[in-house]
Amino acid sequence: MFDAPQTIRIDRRKFLAAGAALVAAGVLPRSALALAGPHTFKHGTFDVTVVSDGTFQMPLEIVNKEAKPEDLRALLGLAADAKTITAEFSPVLVKSGSDMILFDTGNGPGREGAGLLADSLKTAGIDPGSITKVIYTHAHPDHLWGTLKDGKPVFANASHHVAETEWNFWTNPDLASKMPEGMRDMLKATQAQLAGIKDKVAMFKPGAEVVSGVNVIDTAGHTPGHVSFELAGGDGLILTGDAITVPQVFFAHPEWAFGFDADGAAAGKSRKMLLDMAASGKKLMLGYHWPYPGLGRAEAKDGAFAYVPA
Ligand SMILES: [Zn+2]
Repeated sequence: MFDAPQTIRIDRRKFLAAGAALVAAGVLPRSALALAGPHTFKHGTFDVTVVSDGTFQMPLEIVNKEAKPEDLRALLGLAADAKTITAEFSPVLVKSGSDMILFDTGNGPGREGAGLLADSLKTAGIDPGSITKVIYTHAHPDHLWGTLKDGKPVFANASHHVAETEWNFWTNPDLASKMPEGMRDMLKATQAQLAGIKDKVAMFKPGAEVVSGVNVIDTAGHTPGHVSFELAGGDGLILTGDAITVPQVFFAHPEWAFGFDADGAAAGKSRKMLLDMAASGKKLMLGYHWPYPGLGRAEAKDGAFAYVPA
């Protein structure tokens, strides 16, 4: 799943470059480009830009193992023979005063259709060296593995901010022995990414203000130290991370486990809490895997929630 042949990526890059030139020349509409363009908006004093790291085809059994596939297809508006959904990878840039903050670093190289954050930053006119802080929701590969390139931090001038529980979980030297064999290569790569930033890392805890106007919300369950963030301004903007991965499904069924939730019951509780907070506070939400650019709101409905794309 993580080791697509390099040739596919090169061809895709060529395609993207050619596509971009054609879009610029007015020959192709932007929608012809596989890689979504940067999406910028203002929130309070922040300038927010959603950038794409690409997409992937998520099998329905990853969305949820217990639900009947036909129920998932109905919620997702899919054809009767559909076996996957297109999920996005959408890191978020936040400009605040002299800070340029990146939330999550994407997949890094090696995954077909993804690892394209560098291209998106280029399109957005952002030099990786200008990023002052990198802040993580959690340490899964699709949120962390774009942190290093050739063993060195991509965002060389940035401090890196990780929830203490998450850092301690993944860097535990005994973790490999507790993990299934099939997950150990993933763990090794994750530990290498974290080791690469250990001199630049700052820990934070839920409840903290990680930077001025950005509060940390405990949404443990997807991973042991998973966090979401709320940006001050208006009624608030919540960066959900993977607390809510597929809004068409989990707004209606927050208690259902997502296939990659480490603790499905705990993740369900966090999901419900976050949706309650968003619905009652009329807060805007931004989901990392949601339909691009990932903006939406929650409305209370039938004891659960309705997903209202924004
Ligand atoms: Zn994810």
